[in-house]
Amino acid sequence: MHAILSSWFVQGMVKATSDMWLKGWDERNGGNISLRLLDEEVQPFSADFYDEPRCVELSQPAPALANCWFLVTGSGKFFRNVQCDPADSLVLLQVDDRGLSYKIHWGLSNGGLPTSELASHFQSHSVRKVNSQGQDRVIMHCHATHFMALSYVVELDSARFTRLLWEGSTECLVVFPDGVGILPWMVPGTDEIGRATAEKMAQHSLVMWPFHGIFAAGPTLDETFGLIDTAEKSSQVIANVLAMGGIRQSITTEQLIALGKRFGVQPWQAAIEVGPARVA
Ligand code: 13P
Ligand code: ZN
Repeated sequence: MHAILSSWFVQGMVKATSDMWLKGWDERNGGNISLRLLDEEVQPFSADFYDEPRCVELSQPAPALANCWFLVTGSGKFFRNVQCDPADSLVLLQVDDRGLSYKIHWGLSNGGLPTSELASHFQSHSVRKVNSQGQDRVIMHCHATHFMALSYVVELDSARFTRLLWEGSTECLVVFPDGVGILPWMVPGTDEIGRATAEKMAQHSLVMWPFHGIFAAGPTLDETFGLIDTAEKSSQVIANVLAMGGIRQSITTEQLIALGKRFGVQPWQAAIEVGPARVA
């Protein structure tokens, strides 16, 4: 048995994908995760690596990620099955020293490729790694049910939607003070949606893909899962509120500002200025 199977990073991916499956956010092969790893974290497991690693060209250069290691979910793999066979469902890869290709060192034991959303993951990692001074190591995508559902009924405006989620649960402003970026609907699995997602990630740790799902960035698997979980919980509250006839009373602008002060976060100004949440 491979020692790498009991590493914190493989075990962390197993837990994240299993939890996300149980949450109902990842039907079939829905969702994907990438975790950036350091050389010293992977080298202790090098005895488990392939003797002849497969080399794959990137669809778009990622020079900011040169030499970086990533543990990524495989394309077409079901989150509910990662726990049964992590070596088949996950892939450990290293980007080359110019950011033009990567080598598969472990995983995908029955062949295949990393997630079809690798462009969105890598472009987002490139932006977040710099912006967070190397802190952010995780990009997570899933089809969070209520968050997605809201994209059918709310105005697709980042500041207004952020304000709505902040009002949907008192914790939200503290957990994602930078708010939620929103893309127009785009074809998934392309360099274009990757570029657009990364552009939003420069400002927001959460990005909505309308009628599809959510992208989140964070320092750890736990933090990033928690970020999505918090946005999804608030979305569920708002969906229930809408079903119960709409908002009659809510957290006020002054109260949101007080929350930011108490917890030492700077709320995204546009979502403060946009005024109380309104939903049709
Ligand atoms: P992959 O199976 O290629 O990761 O795709 C799943 C998905 O959610 C696409 O947006
Ligand atoms: Zn998806």
